[in-house]
Amino acid sequence: LADRLIGFFKGIGGLNLEERRKPQRGKLTAAIADHKYDVVVRTAGSTAGEQLRLRIIGDEARYKIDDIGLTDEQVAVARELIHGENGLILLTAPPKEGLTTTIYSFTRSNDAFLQNIQTLEYEIEIEIENITRHVYEQNEEKPFSEELRRVVRTDPDVIVIPEIRDKTSAIVASEAAANKATVYVGLNASDLFDGLRKWVASVNDPKLIAKSLRAVFHQRLVRKLCPSCKTPYKPDPATMKKIGAPKDQVLYRPPEPQVDKHGNPIVCQHCNGVGYVGRTGVFCILRFDDELRNVLLKGGSLADLKAAAAQKGGLSLQQMALKKVFEGVTSIEEVVRATRSPTSRKASPTAKKAG
Ligand SMILES: [Zn+2]
Repeated sequence: LADRLIGFFKGIGGLNLEERRKPQRGKLTAAIADHKYDVVVRTAGSTAGEQLRLRIIGDEARYKIDDIGLTDEQVAVARELIHGENGLILLTAPPKEGLTTTIYSFTRSNDAFLQNIQTLEYEIEIEIENITRHVYEQNEEKPFSEELRRVVRTDPDVIVIPEIRDKTSAIVASEAAANKATVYVGLNASDLFDGLRKWVASVNDPKLIAKSLRAVFHQRLVRKLCPSCKTPYKPDPATMKKIGAPKDQVLYRPPEPQVDKHGNPIVCQHCNGVGYVGRTGVFCILRFDDELRNVLLKGGSLADLKAAAAQKGGLSLQQMALKKVFEGVTSIEEVVRATRSPTSRKASPTAKKAG
């Protein structure tokens, strides 16, 4: 049965049915109720046989920065960065925490008609209209950084690099940002300062970083409570105090299991009894301002940068996530799960959208 299923998806995804070992990638469109979804189909051979992965691209294929979970204040900061002067914006997250969606949302928030926007990517999953996309093909003689230099020479206003894997490319990206372009770089990191640490180590040139880096973002995804069945409650005073909730704050959580008069379970039709539908991002932002630049230029360590940044506030992912609890978007339990360090965390049980 597994082979027939894989064959079916390969067929409608436009892949070569005979090829069972080499990785392949294709695409199909699925209609569920009134909604159309793009589905990316991937297959590859492994020791356990041929494997199939499907990724459903939903509404996030149209997201701009107001759609990804940033607070109003954070949207204003992001707008300033997007429309402000040239520089590099570092977007970080652990794997599968929405980073790809965020990078493309930033990209879509630029004006594709007035600006020359170009990307350099290892692979393309989500389509964006009116921008020039370059896909890097693994090549010993032509490293990624070489391709990136070629892109930079064509003088784009905006350069989007969803993934950087080598130090030379980090330097090329920083130079482009210091000279003229707005550059978005995606980087996997376990928290904001882990991202900053990796970037500082990659570029390894405090002057160049001071001239180019404008902000570091870090994000996680939380599941959103089902709007149909979420249930209000008042937590005990100790919990209220611990999370800094206003005195009369009402919180929400999934309902207790319910049964009808015959003893049959009542299941919410909207979420199939899961209690959550969809996910949203929780962000913290560090603006790399003159104060931090000075710390870096004076040879300050990561600890020094952290100390200087701590006074600015807005860096606690948990506090940002709690705002979403007070707004009734998600639950305390979900925030605790989602803001743990990636190593001690299990994947969300209903996670289906990667990246
Ligand atoms: Zn529900």
